[in-house]
Amino acid sequence: GSGEIYRRMSELAEENPDIDVEFGPEIAHGSGPLEVKKSGCHGFCEMGPLMRIEPAGILYTKVKPEDCNEIFHRTIEKGDVIRHLLFKQDGIEYKKQEEIPFYKKQTRNVLKNCGHIDAEHIEEYISTGGYEALEKVLFEMTPQEVVEEISASNLRGRGGGGFPTGYKWSQVARQEEKTRYVVCNGDEGDPGAFMDRSIMEGDPHKMIEGMMIGAYAVGAREGYIYVRAEYPLAISRLKRAISQAEESGLLGDHILGTDFSFRLHINRGAGAFVCGEGSALTASIEGKRGMPRVKPPRTVEQGLFGKPTVLNNVETFANVPMIINKGAEWFRSIGPEKSPGTKAFALTGSVRHTGLIEVPMGTTLREVIYDIGGGIKGDGAFKAVQIGGPSGGCLVSKDLDVSLDFDSLKKMGAMIGSGGLVVMDDHTCMVEVARFFMNFTQNESCGKCVPCREGTKRMLEILERIVAGNGKLEDLDLLEELANMITETALCGLGKSAALPVMSTLKVFHDEYVEHVVEKK
Ligand code: SF4
Repeated sequence: GSGEIYRRMSELAEENPDIDVEFGPEIAHGSGPLEVKKSGCHGFCEMGPLMRIEPAGILYTKVKPEDCNEIFHRTIEKGDVIRHLLFKQDGIEYKKQEEIPFYKKQTRNVLKNCGHIDAEHIEEYISTGGYEALEKVLFEMTPQEVVEEISASNLRGRGGGGFPTGYKWSQVARQEEKTRYVVCNGDEGDPGAFMDRSIMEGDPHKMIEGMMIGAYAVGAREGYIYVRAEYPLAISRLKRAISQAEESGLLGDHILGTDFSFRLHINRGAGAFVCGEGSALTASIEGKRGMPRVKPPRTVEQGLFGKPTVLNNVETFANVPMIINKGAEWFRSIGPEKSPGTKAFALTGSVRHTGLIEVPMGTTLREVIYDIGGGIKGDGAFKAVQIGGPSGGCLVSKDLDVSLDFDSLKKMGAMIGSGGLVVMDDHTCMVEVARFFMNFTQNESCGKCVPCREGTKRMLEILERIVAGNGKLEDLDLLEELANMITETALCGLGKSAALPVMSTLKVFHDEYVEHVVEKK
């Protein structure tokens, strides 16, 4: 929401300190004292600022500070619904959030509290069942049982790779070295991705609880959250969440009176995309330059400060408390057998309704773009979607019914990545899209290895001259040759996937490349 709107509503509430809000008969959910809360993101970013009136569940969109008086006097005091603030789609007016098509097709498990609770107060998280999973593992489960439960759930890393989380935890738990760390990757550098930011801002305790359960499972006593410095609100809410958890006896020594102790630190990243890579991230926390290193040893054996380390991303940790509370079987019942659970996506680009969504794995692109996103905006037609940011791939019309899960996308040469979905219409030039992503990766290349450092530069030069109308047909072969060479020989994931947007657009939109080099001359 907007700070200005919050301020104005708070002022109005203060002017009427004794008010008990009676909701009108059409809302009819009872009464309660007025309280204005700052929540995290509701997901429907394009229609923001949003205001949800509880307990009625009314959602007002595009709220301006000057609307606050009317909301207060008409909706809060009298129970009237203000129609011009309601969301409308295809001539239908929607009063309640859950009825809006954008939300209706979603399964918001990880994002359940985002937009509903005040992320700055631990009591709000606790009132939704927060920290019950931690209590359960501390009093009812052995560390081994926790690892087994997470393994049985088949939770796979939401940061991009889809590595089985339980297996990763078991590898750390079995190391001889007893000093271990738990690290959360909140670096989220993909252009167009903001899933992790929304979780850290809207429900920071969920991911902290997941980290604590991970720490208990692998025997770690210290953890680090690596957040990019461009996320100041996420950092301040995480800091507040940590200090409130410490004050409540949920973090620190002898948590809840048990032998389990855990301390949590925040590290701010300086915005280098490569620091999302595990070994670069841990080097950055150690105060070194954030550069990937050759593996092995792997992070689970020698990660942070050379010790066994569990490194998972924000969304992965945020899934953990739900799995502990509801069980591995419940988790596996959502989505395909080999990629169970839900996935958060940042839906952006040429789609009518952009925002942050969460759907069961296995949902199709068609459902995401048309049922949730409302289809292509303006007069354009669907052309392609870039999935997984610069490390992902490009999917086109024939792929609209592909299941969004780790394995199906891998078969198509794409990947979920962290969950960015940039939709493009038929006005989009795909060579320019490839140039944009290559420019991004080239800027972010850390320069450690030649194929990525020099190869991406050469590819960018070629793409720039093609876009400028100075390309030749031979350039297309050269692009392909360089792409294959970089993919095969680069040291880390950034370089290995740097050419993916070029390779996938070259394959699917070859004619468009040819038109550029022939027609523009
Ligand atoms: Fe650095 Fe690129 Fe080599 Fe990765 S592939 S280590 S980002 S130069």
